[in-house]
Amino acid sequence: MPSAGQATGPARNFGPRRLELIRGDLTGQQVDAIVNAANSSLMGGGGVDGAIHRAGGPAILQACRRIVEAKGPLPAGQAVITVAGRLPARHVIHTVGPRWRGGDGGEAETLDRCYRSSLALAAEKGLSSVAFPSISTGAYGYPVEQAALVAVRAVADMLRAGSPLRLVRFVLFSEADFDAYRRALASLPD
Ligand code: ADP
Repeated sequence: MPSAGQATGPARNFGPRRLELIRGDLTGQQVDAIVNAANSSLMGGGGVDGAIHRAGGPAILQACRRIVEAKGPLPAGQAVITVAGRLPARHVIHTVGPRWRGGDGGEAETLDRCYRSSLALAAEKGLSSVAFPSISTGAYGYPVEQAALVAVRAVADMLRAGSPLRLVRFVLFSEADFDAYRRALASLPD
């Protein structure tokens, strides 16, 4: 039985590491870090980005501004970490997904890097639980069926390879997205 407060959606275990899916709102997740599907400016936007800044308050934007002042805009596929303000999560990892341009412009590779660089950064910071939205499948137009396969495979690969993370959760906003991720999870080899 899952312990109290733990989500109970479809899941796969890789030794002591767990990958799970739930339908819900990323901003309410009590994990070490939630991942923001940001844009390169890190100055907020619509979709999940807007929801994170609204719920977390101005401390997140202040931290993002300092990062951009120091390092410039964040390239697609890379990740940075900030405070989480008033969110129940302890940190926000910001990554920039690819804009869908038909699939021949390296979109899958960039999306794969988003998940891997976010998890590598979480591991580097000693975190053990991370929750992701479906990166790039909103305003950036990546077809969700294809994005789900990239996302689930990248995370499963990192967990199989011995990431120190214990829990990675995908938090899907719509039933259709949840179904796409459920199919992608079911398609993973044993
Ligand atoms: P992108 O620009 O990377 O496409 P979006 O924020 O537009 O990012 O969309 C990414 C996904 O996040 C979409 O599937 C959207 O439905 C979902 N989303 C929006 N708000 C939330 C939220 N509060 N929690 C989880 N997912 C969300």
